[in-house]
Order: sequence, then C-alpha cells, then structure tokens
Amino acid sequence: MGITTVPVSGGNTKRQIMLIQDFKPQVICSTPSYALHIAEKMREQGIDPKETSLKYGIFGAEPWSEEMRNTIEQKLGIKAMDIYGLSEIVGPGVSIECMEEQDGLHIQEDHFLFEVIEPDTNERVPDGEYGELVITSLKKEALPIIRYRTGDIAAINREKCSCGRTTARMTRVKGRIDDMLVIRGVNVFPFEMERSLLNVKELTPHYQLFLSKDGHLDAVELSVELSEESYVRCQQNLEHAEVSRLKQQLQTAIKQECLVSIDIDVKPPKSIPRSEGKAVRIVDKRMEQTVN
Ligand SMILES: [Zn+2]
Repeated sequence: MGITTVPVSGGNTKRQIMLIQDFKPQVICSTPSYALHIAEKMREQGIDPKETSLKYGIFGAEPWSEEMRNTIEQKLGIKAMDIYGLSEIVGPGVSIECMEEQDGLHIQEDHFLFEVIEPDTNERVPDGEYGELVITSLKKEALPIIRYRTGDIAAINREKCSCGRTTARMTRVKGRIDDMLVIRGVNVFPFEMERSLLNVKELTPHYQLFLSKDGHLDAVELSVELSEESYVRCQQNLEHAEVSRLKQQLQTAIKQECLVSIDIDVKPPKSIPRSEGKAVRIVDKRMEQTVN
C-alpha cells in the first residue's frame, strides 16, 4: 500500500512533535489521553495542532467516550478511530472502526470468533446486548486461545455497515469488569463520568477520581481543571461564582448519568498529572483504609 510506519513508542513528547513535523505522517496511533497531551504541548510550543500533516488518529488501550472523540477531533483537526486488541491475543488490531462510519469496530472475523456472555452465568447474550467479550483465535498456531474471557464489556452488532465491509462490529469497550466501580452500591463506569465532564466546555478533558471511605460510606471526589480561558475569566480565583456554577452543573449531570452524588474539586489549569501512556484516572484508597 506504500505505507510506512514510524515506530517511536510512547513518551518524550517533544520528540514526538519533532517527528510529526519532520516525517509528516498522516496517521497517529496512541492512547486517547496521550493524543490530547501532544496537542496541548504543541500549543505550548506555538504550533497549531490542526495545521500538522495529521489527518487520522487510531486510538485505544483505554476506554474513551464519544465526547472524547469529538474533543480530540476538534483539537487535532483529525478523524479519530477506535482500535481494540489484547496482548494475550495479538495486541492491537483485533478490531478497528472504519473511517466511513466510525460506528463500532469491525472485528477481524476471519481470525477471531467473538462471543458476548453474561459474566455471572456464562450464558451468551443476544446481539446488541452488553456483556463480557470472549474470544477464540482461529488461525493462531503456537499459542491458540480458546474461549478467552477478556474482562472487557461490549456488545456485538451484525448489521451491514455502509463502508461495505461485511464483518460484525463491536461497540466501543464500555469498561473492564474490574474497572467497574461500586459506589454506595451503584455500578459506575468512569467512562460515564467522562461523558458528563466533556460536555462542560469551561473544563479540560483531564480528570482524576479519588475514592475513599467516610465512615462506612464511600466518598468520591472528582478532580477536574479549568481551561486557561475560564481561569482568566475567573480572575484566577477558584472561589469565583463561575467556578461554583460549573461545579453545580457537573454534579447535576453526573447525578443524572451515573445516579451517584460526588464531590467536585476544581483545580487551576494543568494541575492534573498528564500521562504518556494509559492515564491513571482512578485512585482508590478504600482498601488501604480498611487495612489500616
Ligand atoms: Zn464500516
């Protein structure tokens, strides 16, 4: 296809930006959170992330939402596609979205057999229903994988895709069975909070969730940060009425989306740690506290 890859691995963002400028690639492949970090660093260096050679992005290795896709597409001026894979199977590329529809990841069905099961009963669920993905490799020889339980939660759609590919598609991964947080008895996926956060334009897409125990109850605090512009608008004062309004707005949205009440901590821009790989978004101190 006349395509070459520039294998640079992760980290060293300055170097990544230099390579994007020197080699002028059309496609970038990373975690979604790292793509946002690169865009932010470009702006700091006076480079407009929308003006680079990049046209498409392939992102995976952490759950991300449709709202996160819109943010990345706007900030980098690219089309963003979701990719899925597991090291135990072949790494990335078990399934990927087509750029025509960006609606579900086409499964490489000639290589893998996909099933979706109800994790508690091990029974298969009908197409369209969420459950745990179970994968069987059809062509691997040295290390065949048979009915491997991925721990990832998604659904399968076998409807025809307008791009012309005939393979089944899986939804984006909603989370891992072990990512699911049980907060005061309610099942919550961090990804659902992310959706609410990204709808508040005055806040950046970076966040961290802290879980602790307040007596016997779970206490949850979501750390978010103001965008540079809103920070200036609030005269760099986190007690500003605008900040309280944003807190309230986000709290209400999360309550509606996830059915839990949480505390919100609004921080100045760039105070949440950025990741060069998979973002550390959940800090769960509940077990530590029980042990102590
Ligand atoms: Zn398609």
